[in-house]
Amino acid sequence: MSGYLFAPPEVRSIPVAGEDAAYPVHRIFCVGRNYAEHAAEMGVAVDREAPFYFTKSPQAAVPGGTVVPYPPGTENYHYEMELAVVLGAPLFRASRAEAEAAVYAYGCALDMTRRDLQLAARAKQRPWDLGKDVEASAVFAPLTRAGEVGALGDRRIHLSVNGTVKQDAHLRDLIHDVPAILADLSRYYHLGPGDVILTGTPAGVGAVVAGDRIEGGIDGLAPVTLTVGEAA
Ligand code: MN
Repeated sequence: MSGYLFAPPEVRSIPVAGEDAAYPVHRIFCVGRNYAEHAAEMGVAVDREAPFYFTKSPQAAVPGGTVVPYPPGTENYHYEMELAVVLGAPLFRASRAEAEAAVYAYGCALDMTRRDLQLAARAKQRPWDLGKDVEASAVFAPLTRAGEVGALGDRRIHLSVNGTVKQDAHLRDLIHDVPAILADLSRYYHLGPGDVILTGTPAGVGAVVAGDRIEGGIDGLAPVTLTVGEAA
């Protein structure tokens, strides 16, 4: 055998502040219901015992600052503002300290969601893929290396649509913090460089329409922006 029958998909990547080279995305893991007030607005109980996860295809990653078409198959496309954590070292069955040491960078991200399809799947006890693994639905601002971020502490996390604040919370509101998430996830996967984790969204999620401009921020990190385009 030689070569491939067709061109393999391009590697998606996220720019890193101060680096010429970009961070290549291997996998995207997302945490569900990790802020109590968001779980409440979704009408479900939080699980404080352990986080739970869904995934997005790495091909769903797109840079912020762009126009992304309104996706097919939904009439209720939602924004979710999230803290993204990306790994720079292998991590398996890790302690909290090992997990923290493996973080390469942090960034602002959007977990765009076909809410109508997610809720329909949830009601039928089906997987969330149609609702969550949406083309161009993982939107990333440039990353900031962990050493430059310092302790995450209690930073504000917020999102506005067309200048109106919709989500406004603090990282202290995370039910499972970053080391807890990484330590738990490393019980199930051999994690490593290229693995990206979205840590969940605060309350205030809502729908967007074509023409809307989303801007999300976390203190000390580059903001993520997105303009919703006409239907694809
Ligand atoms: Mn989310």
